[in-house]
Amino acid sequence: MNFTEEDLQNIRTAQDTGGDIWNNELLVDLKARIKRFYRTNGSEVCCYCRRDFQDEFNMVIDIEHILPKSKYEEYMFEMGNLNISCKRCNMPIKGEKDDFVVDKALIRTDYSVPQHYYFIHPNFDTYSNNLDHFRLVVNEAKITKYIAKTNKGRYTYDYFKLSKLEVDSLNQAQGIPSSENDSVISDQATAAIKESLEILLSQL
Ligand SMILES: [Zn+2]
Repeated sequence: MNFTEEDLQNIRTAQDTGGDIWNNELLVDLKARIKRFYRTNGSEVCCYCRRDFQDEFNMVIDIEHILPKSKYEEYMFEMGNLNISCKRCNMPIKGEKDDFVVDKALIRTDYSVPQHYYFIHPNFDTYSNNLDHFRLVVNEAKITKYIAKTNKGRYTYDYFKLSKLEVDSLNQAQGIPSSENDSVISDQATAAIKESLEILLSQL
């Protein structure tokens, strides 16, 4: 996505105005286009946990600054530093942190080098080369499993606490913690799913 001359002018004006540059009202339209770009470019998933925005959960999608804008103002409007993420990965987990940067001086010489990031960069790395994300749909239940293939994959898995999503999806699939209703799938089906998953994983 290319910025128009008007976009660039609006960015300059917002920067000159100072304060909360990102939320300057001159940039509302530009931000809407950035979000649309990342929602239609590739699949509509969180750039860190890969959960699907369309059918997994209804929530507000955030424009994510991979290098946080509070610490790396120069990359606030760089498309390579932007993507879309879910609130879970964006706020409580990542927030304003930059501990995933390998060398905080080196990163400023060229932020687009994937080796400068411990985790899978949403734009400069290929997610599936580092981490596989399995989704199995059984009736109304969804089961999620991640398999790390590289150090970056493992780092991403730990950093974004993806094991928690696996547990959550398995619990949901087994009807936990829904207290009143019976499980979406039976114990028998759960056992069959686990068996299929193990066979699948053993073949990778
Ligand atoms: Zn996420």
